[in-house]
Amino acid sequence: MKEQFLGVDVSSHSYEQLKRSVLEDINQKRQSFIVAINPEKILKAQEDQNLKELLNKATYQIPDGVGVLLASRVNKGNIKERVTGIDMLLTLCEQASEHGKSVFLYGAKPGIAEEAKDRLKEKYPNLKVAGVLDGYEKDEAKVIRTINESEADILFVALGSPRQEYWIVDHMKDLNVNIFQGVGGSFDVISGRVKRAPAIFQRFGLEWLYRLISEPWRIKRQIRLPLFLLKVWKDK
Ligand code: UDP
Repeated sequence: MKEQFLGVDVSSHSYEQLKRSVLEDINQKRQSFIVAINPEKILKAQEDQNLKELLNKATYQIPDGVGVLLASRVNKGNIKERVTGIDMLLTLCEQASEHGKSVFLYGAKPGIAEEAKDRLKEKYPNLKVAGVLDGYEKDEAKVIRTINESEADILFVALGSPRQEYWIVDHMKDLNVNIFQGVGGSFDVISGRVKRAPAIFQRFGLEWLYRLISEPWRIKRQIRLPLFLLKVWKDK
């Protein structure tokens, strides 16, 4: 269930399929790692072989961003639905609360993960949050110990990309966690510190437009989308 764009794997699972697969991973005590893929990361991986290998090491590369959907269309592929990092996090929390699994929130500025936890508990009252830890703790051994002692099933890592992905791969073997997901700035959004695009923008896949209006300097990043599509087309 994978497609490749410029040498980077992207999985074509829907939320429903991911939910089932992840639950099975937990029940089978298999470790899996979820990474959100967007055109920016794929382009970056072209100049960075380590990053490309890292992205391809993940169990599930979710198609975050319309750019990946357009690329799949160029290749006559099957990726029809966007799976965003933040919605995947929410989906996993829902799944965890339904099946008695627990989550750990690691990352973001001090206090933010705690606030994100409170918001998540409001949304999913049965959710077990095994622990939270900010992303500025320097003592790595303490981080590992805290997560292991929490006995969480699912770990969300919000250290920014690609740092969080390198962190996950480097520490997976030391952690007794089953599911790892790199979630970037998601805790900032869930805590309410950073606003997500209004629903109407989300519905039409226009979050990039909203972000462009609210953070115009992003044009420098977004201008790369046509370049990405052209490369995918040439690579066919
Ligand atoms: N962050 C962190 N520790 C650090 C650097 C960053 O916990 O040493 C957090 C930061 O507070 C923010 C997230 O990592 O919550 C990065 O979010 P950003 O939106 O920049 O990530 P992206 O989604 O662009 O990868």
